[in-house]
Amino acid sequence: MRIDLHTHSRASDGTDTPAELVRQAARAGLDVVAITDHDTAAGWAEAAEAADEVGIQLVRGMEISTRHGRLGVHLLAYGPDPTFPPLAAELERVLHGREARVPTMVARLRALGIDITEDDVRRAAPGAAASGRPHVADALVTLGAVPDRTAAFDRYLGWGRPAHVDRYAVPLATAIAAVTGAGGVSVVAHPWGRGGLGRPDEATFAELRDLGLSGIEVDHQDHGAAARDRLRAIARNLGLVVTGSSDYHGEGKTDHDLGCNTTDPDELERLLELTSSRAAGTA
Ligand code: AMP
Ligand code: ZN
Ligand code: FE
Ligand code: FE
Repeated sequence: MRIDLHTHSRASDGTDTPAELVRQAARAGLDVVAITDHDTAAGWAEAAEAADEVGIQLVRGMEISTRHGRLGVHLLAYGPDPTFPPLAAELERVLHGREARVPTMVARLRALGIDITEDDVRRAAPGAAASGRPHVADALVTLGAVPDRTAAFDRYLGWGRPAHVDRYAVPLATAIAAVTGAGGVSVVAHPWGRGGLGRPDEATFAELRDLGLSGIEVDHQDHGAAARDRLRAIARNLGLVVTGSSDYHGEGKTDHDLGCNTTDPDELERLLELTSSRAAGTA
């Protein structure tokens, strides 16, 4: 069983449509794939249809943009009802915040002498629930201002760079509670990866577990061997589920091929059991 629990489609900042993503996952030899676009379930229906066609198991997920004190934390949510009002309201706030800062980013880039427009950004985001920094980066690539997404973040869009504009992120405790209330389970994505202004330690993970966190994404390209060993030990100490995934973005991210990291079937079973017990209202 090959299981990949973290992938992005064009519903956020991946480059495959949800159907293409699922077909690629089947071609890559995966048995289970989760679609986890940033802050949206917009790709689920199309992905589910494709999953039926190619005979692969689809896990419906999303990656929620949260903050915890000074830490920027990405929270993977599996199986939540995206229409559950407290969750839907928070997702809407993030998507609106992401979209609303595009004019400011464009104005800053124009002040730097780059002839970019809001339309260029929207054209780079076909099918996306909101235009984010990766789409601004893609527009900059199309205009020939930078060679690739990474260079766009390094020069203009990353933290502390001249066109960086902050946006709303859900307080982490609020996000975990909303996911639990919506019948889903929460897993912290790449907790020791890039981004954020620090790393949650074991005491922080313990606090998060007490708030309802179910797992840690341990096997991720942003984590070296030592980080993986340490995170696996923390998960074991705290009784948290361990996941592994590619964080595939199609052409949008190199070195994140489907299935490059995978999740143990027993760990997926633990996660799905938690989801179904919540959906049944028994936990
Ligand atoms: P946003 O939520 O619009 O601020 O965009 C954040 C997203 O941009 C992240 O979730 C990543 O997928 C992507 N991203 C962040 N930093 C980089 C980077 N240095 N290179 C490429 N993509 C990045
Ligand atoms: Zn992304
Ligand atoms: Fe992430
Ligand atoms: Fe991701």
